[in-house]
Amino acid sequence: MEVVVSVEKLVKRYGDITAVDGISFEVRHGEIQGLLGPNGAGKTTTVECLEGLRIPDAGRIEVLGEVPSPTNYALKARLGIQLQGTAFLSRLTVEETLKLFAALYPRHRRVSELMEFAALSEKRRAPVKSLSGGQRQRLAVALALVNDPELLILDEPTAGLDPQARRALWELIISLKGEGKTVLLTTHYMEEAEYLCDRVLILDHGKIIALGSPEDLIARHFRETPIEVELADVDIGVDFSVLPGVERVVWEEEEVVLYSTTPVETIQALSTLSRRGEIELRDLTMRRVSLEDVYLLLTGRRIRE
Ligand code: ATP
Repeated sequence: MEVVVSVEKLVKRYGDITAVDGISFEVRHGEIQGLLGPNGAGKTTTVECLEGLRIPDAGRIEVLGEVPSPTNYALKARLGIQLQGTAFLSRLTVEETLKLFAALYPRHRRVSELMEFAALSEKRRAPVKSLSGGQRQRLAVALALVNDPELLILDEPTAGLDPQARRALWELIISLKGEGKTVLLTTHYMEEAEYLCDRVLILDHGKIIALGSPEDLIARHFRETPIEVELADVDIGVDFSVLPGVERVVWEEEEVVLYSTTPVETIQALSTLSRRGEIELRDLTMRRVSLEDVYLLLTGRRIRE
């Protein structure tokens, strides 16, 4: 498959801080690739290097066969970029904003088509300042599409949005893929990455700690099924790790998660404990393994949405 982005041993420092610490990865044509990780992991720095906004301290980057730099305008014309927290001219309408950006490019997509694509046609005459958070983010993605780019780089496109607005943006991003675009996006949201991304790269402290499709990462790291157990009292001193099939026990604030290779046996054992009055069960849920479980396993932390 054609490689659209190639990164080799990328290093970027800010003074004493090594924000990106020797990472290597590729983005392939037509895929949605996610760059995940907690605050300060180095996601934005990485995408800024790809966009030519920052010069790496070491390593090699190729984007669409070119080396990004602040003055590589030919490459910029082929990229669609949505920066974190896009600033708009708030008095301009949606249509005026898109027209303004379209005028910057010799070749651009039709403004009416972009508004339709981003489900903003009804808002064409609305000033940008009157838009909801989700509408603004959809406008930011529409702006990134103005020049009909081959590669879109979206930095936290759904940050701070409510679930409904986030879903609408997900559908928009999926339809980009349908158009044959390649998308690299950063996110904090594991559920988002699992839904959208063909492959994800998890960064922590500037290093890659996992890379692969969500399904592969899950299969590589888990044979177990998580059972979420909500207890009336979590301070009961029961050792759940000795129950049949339980490989790992993770205590949360109000529940305990048992990762079991034989979930039916584990649940039977829990019900025995409950019958004997050794635990008071409030709720019991068996769920499928998610990317969030992989993240928790690898980083020891949970990203809360
Ligand atoms: P977030 O999810 O919060 O956007 P991130 O994963 O995008 O985080 P970066 O913004 O790339 O992470 O930051 C990586 C590290 O580099 C952090 O420790 C951050 O404080 C530091 N950093 C980022 N930009 C600068 C800068 N301009 N000057 C100094 N340090 C910086």
